[in-house]
Amino acid sequence: MSNRSYYIAGNWKMHKTRAESAELAQALVSQLKDGKHKYLVAPSFTSLETVSAIVEGTNVRLGAQDCAAEEQGAHTGEVSVLQLKDLGVQTIILGHSERRHTYKEDDALINKKVKLALKHGFEVILCIGELLEEREAGKAEEVCETQTVKGLEGVSAADLSNLVIAYEPVWAIGTGKTATPEDADAIHAFVRKVIGKLYGADAADKIIIQYGGSVKPENAAQLMAKENIDGALVGGASLKTDTFVPIAKFS
Ligand code: PEP
Repeated sequence: MSNRSYYIAGNWKMHKTRAESAELAQALVSQLKDGKHKYLVAPSFTSLETVSAIVEGTNVRLGAQDCAAEEQGAHTGEVSVLQLKDLGVQTIILGHSERRHTYKEDDALINKKVKLALKHGFEVILCIGELLEEREAGKAEEVCETQTVKGLEGVSAADLSNLVIAYEPVWAIGTGKTATPEDADAIHAFVRKVIGKLYGADAADKIIIQYGGSVKPENAAQLMAKENIDGALVGGASLKTDTFVPIAKFS
């Protein structure tokens, strides 16, 4: 990978109480303090304040798993960028496949969130990825291109420097099935080309593209060895230090 640095992120999804989140965050801060890569944890909204106090000033960034598409207002159950900023959140994961498929978020809504988060100075991790039937129908590239182009509509080249893409084939998320390093790298290379068409070769070379989908200590190094894979967005294996730390410190 050119000069890009590795970025390993943990998405804790709807797991852990505040006490459990604090325990994991404390252990990660201590075990990753000599880590060479960029790190992030994304706890549930309810644990953000607790984890924020633990990761502040360390090499572990604080992420949220989603945000509302509006700044504030009558949106029962939603959480705004202003509230996330107030808690010390630095990064927002958007367009996760569970948001897209379980909660029916479309590209237009995700794009609105992406622009709002970038406007408020957050780093954004934009998740893209095809369903199994789309891959089997030979449509993986088409789906990833559409999600990338529509997700980034109206995003300036300057704002792109605050944006990371996570390629997460939906069939690999939480299933134990991982894309082969070759298959994942091929999509990463393709998405990099899409970024090149939109923003030019330099932006394409610089953008960090994480892989997500059953990343484990056993497969992290092979995935990271690929030219176009610049890190990982980790779900299940991010819930324990025993599995997240070896991924974060892969060699
Ligand atoms: C995810 O949900 O972003 C993810 C990649 O999950 P898992 O690692 O459990 O497949």
